[in-house]
Amino acid sequence: MNIKNYINGNFHNPIQDNWLDNYNPSNGKIYGQIPDSTKEDVENAYISAKSAFPSWSQTTLDERSRILIKISELLEANLQRFAEAESKDNGKPVSLAKQIDIPRAASNFRFFGNAITQFASESHESIGQQAINYTLRQPIGVVGCISPWNLPLYLFTWKIAPALAAGNCVVAKPSEVTPMTAYLLGEICNEAGLPKGVLNIVYGLGGSTGQAIIEHPDIKAISFTGGTATGAHIAKVAAPMFKKLSLELGGKNPNIIFADCDYDDMLATTVRSSFANQGQICLCGSRIFVEHSIYEKFKTDFVNKVKALKVGHPSEKDTNIGALVSKPHLEKVKEYIQIAKDENGTVLCGGNEVTITDYENGYYLEPTVIEVQSDECRVNQEEIFGPVVTIMPFTNEDQVLQMANKVKYGLSATLWTNDLKRTMRMSNQLQAGIVWVNTWMLRDLRTPFGGVKASGVGREGGFEALRFFTEAKNVCIKY
Ligand code: NAD
Repeated sequence: MNIKNYINGNFHNPIQDNWLDNYNPSNGKIYGQIPDSTKEDVENAYISAKSAFPSWSQTTLDERSRILIKISELLEANLQRFAEAESKDNGKPVSLAKQIDIPRAASNFRFFGNAITQFASESHESIGQQAINYTLRQPIGVVGCISPWNLPLYLFTWKIAPALAAGNCVVAKPSEVTPMTAYLLGEICNEAGLPKGVLNIVYGLGGSTGQAIIEHPDIKAISFTGGTATGAHIAKVAAPMFKKLSLELGGKNPNIIFADCDYDDMLATTVRSSFANQGQICLCGSRIFVEHSIYEKFKTDFVNKVKALKVGHPSEKDTNIGALVSKPHLEKVKEYIQIAKDENGTVLCGGNEVTITDYENGYYLEPTVIEVQSDECRVNQEEIFGPVVTIMPFTNEDQVLQMANKVKYGLSATLWTNDLKRTMRMSNQLQAGIVWVNTWMLRDLRTPFGGVKASGVGREGGFEALRFFTEAKNVCIKY
């Protein structure tokens, strides 16, 4: 199936007629092509967005809200089709896409469709000066949204929905590795009555299509989720043009387990926070630190549970771990397992590729647990972004806090304890944008989402996202 650029409500071949292959990770086969879009395609998308802006930015909040909620309903009505497409493109189990990716994409549209009706700005009376100030929150114009491959539709819509709700028109690019559900979204937007040109989706490589978006002089804001190195590059390009930037980048999140936690809940959740989506979630707790007194017990129980996870074809109902997203990514993850061994890490389980009958060329890897000797080894410091976690013991709070914070990243942290004072102390001191206590990935879309240090700049979610996608203008009236 060939994917086409979605520009001005229509589907177009790329101007240069160059195409890229699209792979199915579950069998390693090419199953379609996507546009290898150039600067000219991006320019057309921009022109379409620019033309749609005057009308869309003046559309009533009621009307914007109605259309976004309609998109949400149509996504829900097409759940099975979208889940299968996401799984085929990404390798994730269909069951996961059905339970998480697609429902959350639908929630993004519903949430921001509602949120915009509640978004208010401030007014300040300058007492004694006979003046009143009020703040306008105006849409920026044409904005760029660029997303990664791990949660394709979920993260794509997490940007697009608030951008549109706030009255902007969008030029968006999904990852070239997982373009399919973005393509299907175009059809849904038409069906929902989103006016032509309000959302434009171009496909292609980061270095060319993505680059054309970030360096476009009139695309004034970029919302990006992806790797830290790409984020640094985007910041460099965008800074001299004074673009507004929201960067959601890599992570190497600590999962800190104290002996006083609810053990069974912790164990079940830790399996999930380690290996959900083949460990390819920026929020996965890939560094597990366990209090010394329960370390040996945890090690045995955790490894047993991980060994019981079924690696299988994504469409099979009992599959826990599907395929990794691509061949190069599989190779990268395998390299890290070798690095761990070279650094005297002990592979407690996993570490090998898995061959699945009839799908021998798929990118399957066993979930892997590595016991490390030092928190400073490479596998404990660098983002692997696959089904690989490290474990090591700690003796006290100060020590584990220091180890948890001693990485360049700061996206999320998970803490397992029933000690309230410790919870408060540690939550204050963990260098992360998000701290989960006795849970993982429990999301309320009103809360700020994002990281510190090399995990990014800015926050998404709730009114934070609507603030990002608007410019504040103060009006001061003397009376
Ligand atoms: P990536 O940085 O390679 O690509 C992300 C997107 O950026 C893709 O659409 C890509 O085509 C585009 N891109 C690449 N180079 C570009 C350029 N020069 N200009 C413009 N766009 C460009 O990341 P990835 O491999 O797709 O995703 C994995 C990474 O994403 C991991 O590091 C992961 O931690 C991170 N991630 C972060 C979050 C978060 O919320 N912080 C969420 C999910 C994934």
